[in-house]
Amino acid sequence: MRVSRRVLCVSVVAALSTVSQPGTFAQLPASLPTLRVQATSVEDLRTWDAYVTQHERAGSLRVRTSRQDPDLPSRTVERLDQFHEGIPIWGADIVRSSERGVPIAIFGVLAPDLSIGVEPSLAPDAAGQALVRAGGIEATLVRAPELIVLPLESGDYRLAYMAVVASGFEVNRIFVDAQTGVELWRYSEIQRQSAVGVGRGVLNDNKKLSVRQQSGGFFIADDSHRPPLIATFDMRGNRSRATSILNGQTSLANSDFASDADNVWTDPPVVDAHAHVALTYDFYYKRFGRNGLDGRNKPIQIMTNAVSQQGALSLSASDLYGYAINAFWCPACYNANGMLYFGNGIPPGYRALNDRNYTYFSGALDIAAHEFTHAVTSSTSNLMYANESGALNEAFSDMMGKSVEFYFHPAGAQVGQADYVIGKDIARGVVPGALNGDRSMANPALYGDPDHWRNYRRLPNTQAGDYGGIHSNSGIPNHAFYLAIEGGTNRTSGMVVQGVGASNRERIEKVFYRAFTIYLTSTSNFSQARTATIQAARDLYGAGGVPEQAVTQAWSAVGVTDTSSFVPQVTRLTTVSDTLPGDEGAYWYYWNVTMPTTGRYQAVLNWADPSIDLDLAIGPVGCFDWSCMSSSARNRTTRPETVCHNVSAGQVYSVLTRNWSNRSAPITIVHTIDPSPSGPCALPGPSALTTADGSSQMSGGSVRAAYELKASQ
Ligand SMILES: [Zn+2]
Repeated sequence: MRVSRRVLCVSVVAALSTVSQPGTFAQLPASLPTLRVQATSVEDLRTWDAYVTQHERAGSLRVRTSRQDPDLPSRTVERLDQFHEGIPIWGADIVRSSERGVPIAIFGVLAPDLSIGVEPSLAPDAAGQALVRAGGIEATLVRAPELIVLPLESGDYRLAYMAVVASGFEVNRIFVDAQTGVELWRYSEIQRQSAVGVGRGVLNDNKKLSVRQQSGGFFIADDSHRPPLIATFDMRGNRSRATSILNGQTSLANSDFASDADNVWTDPPVVDAHAHVALTYDFYYKRFGRNGLDGRNKPIQIMTNAVSQQGALSLSASDLYGYAINAFWCPACYNANGMLYFGNGIPPGYRALNDRNYTYFSGALDIAAHEFTHAVTSSTSNLMYANESGALNEAFSDMMGKSVEFYFHPAGAQVGQADYVIGKDIARGVVPGALNGDRSMANPALYGDPDHWRNYRRLPNTQAGDYGGIHSNSGIPNHAFYLAIEGGTNRTSGMVVQGVGASNRERIEKVFYRAFTIYLTSTSNFSQARTATIQAARDLYGAGGVPEQAVTQAWSAVGVTDTSSFVPQVTRLTTVSDTLPGDEGAYWYYWNVTMPTTGRYQAVLNWADPSIDLDLAIGPVGCFDWSCMSSSARNRTTRPETVCHNVSAGQVYSVLTRNWSNRSAPITIVHTIDPSPSGPCALPGPSALTTADGSSQMSGGSVRAAYELKASQ
C-alpha cells in the first residue's frame, strides 16, 4: 500500500471555506486523493483545525490519546484515528498539537470521505481461515482478525480483515478482502536491524579470523537501578521454543531467565544485551526525560541465544538471516508485549555473502539502541514498516542508535568508538575491500544506499524487496540527520549544509526525537518528516535559530521539500502554491506532480525581480526537451509565465522551471486545477512558443532535480 501515491503535495493557501461545508466531500470523483497534512503555518492550521474539529464531531475522527507535551507543558498533543462508518481506516491518523486550544501543528494522513459499504461477506471465522492460508506453512494467527478499511496502491479503498500471522520465523500483518478473502496487502511485524534476505543466503568458508575482543560490560541480574523490569531471557539454543514464545504459543517460564551459577556473567550475548539495553534506557531518560519503551516504563523483554554461532551453520538460508544474522523488535510478538531479539551471528572464520563476519548482535551498542528505538516508535508515531514510512522508522532507529553510541563511546572509527557506520562493532569485513558495518549515515552511497530523494529506491513491498527498500531509503533521512549535526556537502545535489557542530549534537538529537515522537503519524512521509523537524526546532530553539537552519538546509540538501497536501477539493478552483529558495544558478528544477483530480491544470510562475528571466514548462515525466513539452512558456520580458494542460486524476506530469539569469529571491509557482473547465486550454503548446531563446534544446543548463513535489510513492 502506498497511501500517498495520489497526493499532490503543495502548500495550501486557499480553500479555507471548503471545510465548513458538511456533505460536500461526497461530490468528489470516484478516485480520491489521500489527504496529507503537515500544517504549521497560520493558514494551513486554520484549515486543518476546522477539518479535524468537524470530523471529530461527526465521529469520523476519534481521539486515541491526549497527552501533555513533555517538552512544552502548556501544550496538548492529541492523536486521532480516522473511521469510516465506525470501521477504522488503516494508516489514517492525525496528530494535533495545541496551546490553550490554539493549534500549533497538525500532521497526518487521512482518507477522503468514502462511500464503500461496511458489511463483510466473510464471517470472522472464514476470514481467519483465509488469513492463515495467506500466512503459509503452519501459519497461526497471533491476533484475531479485525475489520478495517484498507487504502490500496491504486488509490481505492477496500473493506478488509486484518490479522498478525506467524509462520516459522516470519511474523506478518496480512490484509484480506472482506468480501472475497483474497489477500490485498501485507507487511512485516519483525523490525530488523538490517536488510536480511536480499540477495544473500549462504555461508562460504573463509580464512580464520582473530576473534574480536568483546567489550563486555557488567550485568546486573536483578536490575534494581532502573524503574522498568529489564528481563533478559536465554533460549539456550532452543530455537523452536524461541519461535513458540515469539508467536505467543508458549509462555516464558522462570527457567527461561538468563542465569549464571557463580554470578560472574561470562556469556557475551547475554551480558551485552542486558547492559546495552540498560544503557539505552539511561540515554533516553537523561537526554529526553523518556521513561522507557512506551514512556511509562513498561517491562522490557530481551531474547538471546536462540541459536548458537555454531548452530547457525546448519540453518536454512532464511532461518540463518532470521535467527542468527539479525536483531529485531517485534511489537506483535509475545502476545503483543513486544520482544527485543538479538541473534548470535556466525562463528569466526565464516562470512556472509557481503564478505562480512557477524558476531553477537547485542555486542553493538548502536544495534541495541536501534531495536529499542523501534519500540519507542511503536508507542509513538507507529510508523508503518513498509515503503516511505518504513524507511523513516528505520532511519529514526539508526539516528538514535548512533546518538546512544556518541553518548557513551568516544568518537572514532574503531570497534567500541562512535561514528556514523551502523553495526560496525559486530559486522566486520573479512576480505580485502569489504566494508565494516551495514550502512553509513555520513556516506550512504558507500553501501549502495541513496543519499538524495532523486535516488529513492522503488523496491516492491515484499520480503525480497526489503518491504520497499526500507533499510536502503533510510539513507536519505539518515544523511539529513548527519548533515544537520556535522555539516558538509551532499554528494548528489552539491548543496552545502552548515551543521550545528558535533559539540551541539544534542540539539539535533532532540529535534529529531521530538519530531518523530510527537508529530509523525503511521504513514508519514519524508516531506512530513522535514516539516516536523523544522517545527520541532522552532519549538525547542526558536524560529530562525541555528538548529532550524541546519535542519532545513539538511533536508534541502537531500532533496526533500517542505510541502503539504491539497485540502479537500470542493471548490471549483483550488489554488495552492509552492516557493523555491534562492539562487541556484542556471539550472532546471522539476516537480513531479500527481494530478489529484481531472480537469485543467495550470501553473503560474512569478518572481519579484523584473531584470531576470525564468521559463516554465509542463510535460510527461522524463521529458527534458522543449519538443516533448505539453505546454511551455518562454517569454523574455514578461512576468508571470503560465502553462496549462488538461489532465486526468492520477496522471503524473513534470513541471519544470529554467532560469537563464541568477536570482537571489524566492520565486513562487501557483498551481490550480479547474475540475470543470469550458473549452480547451488557451495557453501555448510546444509548437506555439511566444518567444524562443534561440535554441530548441535544453542545452543551456544542466538538468538538476533539486525539488520534487510528489514526495512519496
Ligand atoms: Zn531496524
